[in-house]
Amino acid sequence: MRYISTRGQAPALNFEDVLLAGLASDGGLYVPENLPRFTQEEIASWAGLPYHELAFRVMRPFVTGSIADADFKKILEETYGVFAHSAVAPLRQLNGNEWVLELFHGPTLAFKDFALQLLGRLLDHVLSKRGERVVIMGATSGDTGSAAIEGCKACEHVDIFIMHPHNRVSEVQRRQMTTIFGENIHNIAIEGNFDDCQEMVKASFADQGFLKGTRLVAVNSINWARIMAQIVYYFHAALQLGGPARSIAFSVPTGNFGDIFAGYLARNMGLPISQLIVATNRNDILHRFMSGNQYVKETLHATLSPSMDIMVSSNFERLLFDLHGRNGAALAGLMESFKQGGGFSVEEDRWTEARKLFDSLAVNDEETCETIAEVFAQTGEVLDPHTAIGVKAARECRRSLDTPMVILGTAHPVKFPEAVEKAGVGKALELPAHLTDLFQREERCTVLANDLKAVQAFVSQHGNRGKPL
Ligand SMILES: *Cc1c(COP(=O)(O)O)cnc(C)c1O
Repeated sequence: MRYISTRGQAPALNFEDVLLAGLASDGGLYVPENLPRFTQEEIASWAGLPYHELAFRVMRPFVTGSIADADFKKILEETYGVFAHSAVAPLRQLNGNEWVLELFHGPTLAFKDFALQLLGRLLDHVLSKRGERVVIMGATSGDTGSAAIEGCKACEHVDIFIMHPHNRVSEVQRRQMTTIFGENIHNIAIEGNFDDCQEMVKASFADQGFLKGTRLVAVNSINWARIMAQIVYYFHAALQLGGPARSIAFSVPTGNFGDIFAGYLARNMGLPISQLIVATNRNDILHRFMSGNQYVKETLHATLSPSMDIMVSSNFERLLFDLHGRNGAALAGLMESFKQGGGFSVEEDRWTEARKLFDSLAVNDEETCETIAEVFAQTGEVLDPHTAIGVKAARECRRSLDTPMVILGTAHPVKFPEAVEKAGVGKALELPAHLTDLFQREERCTVLANDLKAVQAFVSQHGNRGKPL
């Protein structure tokens, strides 16, 4: 499988190189040159497969030529073997024909484990074959950092440096990062905010002298392998609910358009998905596009669903690429006008095309809490605030009551106690078994000034399994 850039200028890469690449050299994002397409009979024949075997069938076309079947099977079995639920991604019924797909049974209790547990193992596999080592640098306001650290802790060829804003992440989220030990794991608390952390990651990619030749890898949601891993659970959910013989609708809490883009790909690969609902919080750039064809940057608001607090959706470029007939030059122009003017609209027929599949809703904090309380009253289930936004959007935007509606349950509620307490259902919460001693565990973390040189010096001092590069 070959991968091309959405902006048309960067060289095409194979899977192995795309895994290590991050952004394309022309500033675009990599996408498969040709999407695999499965027949209905083929999809139907996968009913009842364990999750890792289904994952093998769905993802195999994306990695062929780079990873041998037997190796890939083994990697997938290990990856999804660490999940705390034997169904890996179980469905829970909320209401008539309405279901939550629970994607929070991984080590860090959010859906990001699906992709990052796999990414760490794929990286290590490819790097050991090549006899190379890499450094990962990432910035996090919460979920990504812990999932990336958990995903990389067993990697022999990867040193990972995760920066979070000092004293500005929740205690659960901090402890999920700082209580994982390994000579290749480095938590850095920056005396600054999340944007400061992210700027330092960007600056490090732009000027890599301090790495002395070691390759720097990104694990943010633009990495193709993360999207790829998320396609699988759409197939998994549909197969449980009578697919592919019947259509399924999904409602997806989203910020960077990563998770929902995976659903869009599942549909283009042959899965009958009749509706995809973009569910955002008050940071609603995606909702403003879907409802009014306005993709315009606005100020960032802090909400009770912090993992979706973004101003610009990095993966949206991948959908725009398809809407523009995969014309890289057109995309480069569009993204340039966004950079210059902070916004754009697309031609009416392209927008109408998107609206055939996508609906959207923006949900504020008050409605989020109301939905958590409402679902608790109806079912006794406590939802996390991101998932609650998905439920609210599903109930408002649903096109057909006969079509099963699946809401992606992106996190365990225990990660976001503030929203759950505001909704008045906090007492019902407990940490899952593998984390009951989280608050007793020892923590390891280095506090550094908001200073690029200090951070880069730290990385070059510790980037080789804790030793200097
Ligand atoms: C990351 C995250 C999201 C948003 O996912 P995108 O891929 O950015 O759309 C939603 N909910 C939770 C809990 C997350 O951690």
